[in-house]
Amino acid sequence: VTRFHAEHAWLGGPGVTSGVLIEVQGGTIASVATGVTPPPGTRRLRGLTLPGLANAHSHAFHRLLRGRSQAAGGDFWTWRHAMYAMAARLTPERYHRVALAVYAEMALAGVTCVGEFHYLHHRPDGRPYDDPNEMGHALVGAAGAAGLRITLLDTCYLTGGIDRPLEGVQRRFGDADAAGWAERVGALEDSAGSRVGAAVHSVRAVPPESAAIVAEWARARAAPLHFHLSEQPAENRDCVARYGRTPAEVLEAAEVLGAGATAVHATHLGSADVDRLGASATTVCACPTTERDLADGIGPLRALARAGCPLALGSDSHAVIDLLEEARALELDERLGRGRRGNWAPHELLSAATVAGHRALGWPSAGRLVVGAPADLVSVDLASVRTAGTGPDLLATVVYAAAAADVTDVVVGGREVVRDGCHLLVPEPARALTAVVAELEGDR
Ligand SMILES: [Zn+2]
Repeated sequence: VTRFHAEHAWLGGPGVTSGVLIEVQGGTIASVATGVTPPPGTRRLRGLTLPGLANAHSHAFHRLLRGRSQAAGGDFWTWRHAMYAMAARLTPERYHRVALAVYAEMALAGVTCVGEFHYLHHRPDGRPYDDPNEMGHALVGAAGAAGLRITLLDTCYLTGGIDRPLEGVQRRFGDADAAGWAERVGALEDSAGSRVGAAVHSVRAVPPESAAIVAEWARARAAPLHFHLSEQPAENRDCVARYGRTPAEVLEAAEVLGAGATAVHATHLGSADVDRLGASATTVCACPTTERDLADGIGPLRALARAGCPLALGSDSHAVIDLLEEARALELDERLGRGRRGNWAPHELLSAATVAGHRALGWPSAGRLVVGAPADLVSVDLASVRTAGTGPDLLATVVYAAAAADVTDVVVGGREVVRDGCHLLVPEPARALTAVVAELEGDR
């Protein structure tokens, strides 16, 4: 039994609790006692301790574009051109090294579980590697080495646009058809720290009948199913022109929507699509720092939540890796769009970053500090230059004032991964990332 004593902890709901003793057995929370002074031999956690944060939408290699594409102007499509150039140069070994550094950055930011929306499957010319899942294994191995749990959202990607063949680097993304995708993904297995989920890239990249096959595959395995939805107006226009329906309507007809499914972005939706997603209880994963970086727009997230969609959060392109920033952006973007404050309470924003994200990734018991949950603990400094001198509402301080850099300690499944702001398993993630970027640059 390992014992952690949190100075303050968020146990759910609108308030926090002081003096919380958490006993851990076999990686799981065995007991939670409140109002306790720390007994001897207890690991002390200063500040406010949260459950582990879930980053429900990640493309690890997009981190390579940080600071490279952002000042250049253009839009989503010019950014995608730069992203494809980076994708063309990744080998399984480099993919692993990039992901290891990115996942270490996530752990340092309090992320204990990542949903990796993975479509970089094959060699640059589209031929499979000797092990057709070698790139997926590189990601799962990286998450394990960085101390994170991972849901590998293995992505079906068949067309380079509606009715268009895959071209250039897109050939790396494609399996022959949905049956070929299912056969390859069928060889992947869950482990203690990893789950296999499915993804339909988008209506741009997967025809409806193929999306239906992927959805059926996910249902048969009770695996999470994710998809990009209406990130850009052009996607809606092309979809309506071809099918006479919006992307949400097409995916509803293919039985992709539902309580086990997660729509990523859901930015450009009409009110009928909002109702459609809400009625199906599809989770919506917002990625506000990416959506603002790519000039995507502000989605109808408050309306989606009202309609019945649980909300989760992801850092997607990793322009920023800071789930606290994503959580506050949900509220702050809504304020800009509606001209009103107070759309979500801080604990609701934290629920999106914790329990809802874990549920969307197929870890329904995680993201809460309760008996029987995985012992994932994230401590946030309340005495840093950013968080000192704030008011008595500690949840408001963490959501509106704290940054990833204020995360001091991270425990994943009872194992210490970050202590005093240092990663215990990946000693120098910045240096490791710099080295692999230099290699990729040299290959240009
Ligand atoms: Zn994405």
